Amino acid sequence: MELSRNILLWASNNEWMKKHIPERKFVRRAVKRFMPGENVTDAIEAGRELMKNGIPATFTYLGENINELIEAENTAKQYVELLERIYKEQLDIEVSLKLTQIGFDLSFDKTLEYFEQVTHTAKKYGNNVFIDIEDSHYVDKTLTFYKEVKKDYDNAGLCLQSYLYRTMDDLKNMIDIKPWIRLVKGAYKEPADIAFPEKRKVDENYLMLSKYLLRQTKNEGIRVAYGTHDIKLQEQIKLEAERIGLEKENLEFQMLYGIKEREQMKLAEEGYNIRTLISYGKFWYPWYMRRLAERPANVGFVLKNLFSN
Ligand SMILES: Cc1cc2nc3c(=O)[nH]c(=O)nc-3n(C[C@H](O)[C@H](O)[C@H](O)COP(=O)(O)OP(=O)(O)OC[C@H]3O[C@@H](n4cnc5c(N)ncnc54)[C@H](O)[C@@H]3O)c2cc1C
Repeated sequence: MELSRNILLWASNNEWMKKHIPERKFVRRAVKRFMPGENVTDAIEAGRELMKNGIPATFTYLGENINELIEAENTAKQYVELLERIYKEQLDIEVSLKLTQIGFDLSFDKTLEYFEQVTHTAKKYGNNVFIDIEDSHYVDKTLTFYKEVKKDYDNAGLCLQSYLYRTMDDLKNMIDIKPWIRLVKGAYKEPADIAFPEKRKVDENYLMLSKYLLRQTKNEGIRVAYGTHDIKLQEQIKLEAERIGLEKENLEFQMLYGIKEREQMKLAEEGYNIRTLISYGKFWYPWYMRRLAERPANVGFVLKNLFSN
């Protein structure tokens, strides 16, 4: 299991594969399970379907580690146009983006400028923007970035990972700025000196962080989204919320499009906030490989597509 995860995460960064795998028709067919399509209109259609069942969405326009600032500028423009469209069509869709998609490898200040274009537009329309968290090289810089953004934008949130030993300290060190947090387990390959190598420990840490965050929501009104498909963990979080007297409407789960759809619906029916993250765009390869790595059995699904016409 760990070996397949490592191979898939290695493949997610392989330049040759990045270029050639997305050309394969059977892979393109398999990707549809996690992504309604490459165009924003495909994503909006999928979002509308979910909204009929009381499930709002978060949109991510796929891309990461760009090499030229012009690409960052274009990405920021895409998000601004998306936010305008969301507003015009009165949809309950937030956005979430990767900082390396808007120039983080190239310039901190330029990234801030592009991010502010997006978050400013979102604020104008009463909408919100989350920052995805990437591999551990970016964590310090991302925290500094988020603190800077938070000075002017209360509509920005940040994703953090429970597989990193440091996350509780990171949370405590920024709790005074009332961060908005999306808590996830973490999707990258990290060394054992900075991240729990055992899944059990990652899950335990997730619960510990959740208990801390639930109290922050209860006492300080901090928005937290629990980004996990782990139903057992979700149940533990619900119980803890109940124990401390936190109402269902103050508890939010987020899950990915195409994964555990029935459970997503059930959460909505039970009265919890549930938001589905929908990704779209042409640059889906590394993102898709990380989805396969989360559940290597998904590779079987890709192979099935190889043999269907
Ligand atoms: C809304 C959201 C936003 C995220 N944003 C980020 C981010 O910014 N940075 C980051 O590093 N990671 C992000 N992730 C990914 C996250 O870090 C995990 O890699 C991923 O969610 C898998 O862990 P899990 O907690 O869902 O559960 P696990 O404990 O891995 O699995 C629980 C159950 O869900 C099923 N499951 C999990 N993943 C899949 C899958 N891909 N396909 C099919 N079944 C699956 C498992 O089979 C199992 O039954 C995000 C996840 C979500 C839900």
